Amino acid sequence: MANRGLSEAIDALKSTRVRMTPQRHAILEFLYESMTHPTADEIYKALEGRFPNMSVATVYNNLRVFKEVGIVKELSYGDASSRFDCVTSNHYHVICTQCGKIVDFHYPGLDEVETLAEHVTGFEVDNHRMEIYGVCPDCKKAR
Ligand SMILES: [Zn+2]
Ligand SMILES: [Zn+2]
Repeated sequence: MANRGLSEAIDALKSTRVRMTPQRHAILEFLYESMTHPTADEIYKALEGRFPNMSVATVYNNLRVFKEVGIVKELSYGDASSRFDCVTSNHYHVICTQCGKIVDFHYPGLDEVETLAEHVTGFEVDNHRMEIYGVCPDCKKAR
């Protein structure tokens, strides 16, 4: 399953003018294998051994490219620590308040919220994000 996602992402990249490089391949592979919604820094730390010339900025620039092509979603939290998600279909997140882990959570899209928000505020709504907070099973065990 995860590998099919990766090969589809690679195909999507090939259909654009974006060149596939070993670094880009490794970053995509890490996103699909970890499924942890990593930050650019976490990706950098996981791959720096394989790519000694790579910097956090390189990782970040590649993620930007993936985002423009639409194979990666950026979850910004109002600070420098954006997280990156290789699942671009609509889904929600459960976030651990102890370790910060983000887990995908599938639930029918709450489209009425968007419609209501449009009616009430006059905004043209693009999307929404819902996050559920709690303590993950691992942290619960550790307590
Ligand atoms: Zn946790
Ligand atoms: Zn996700």
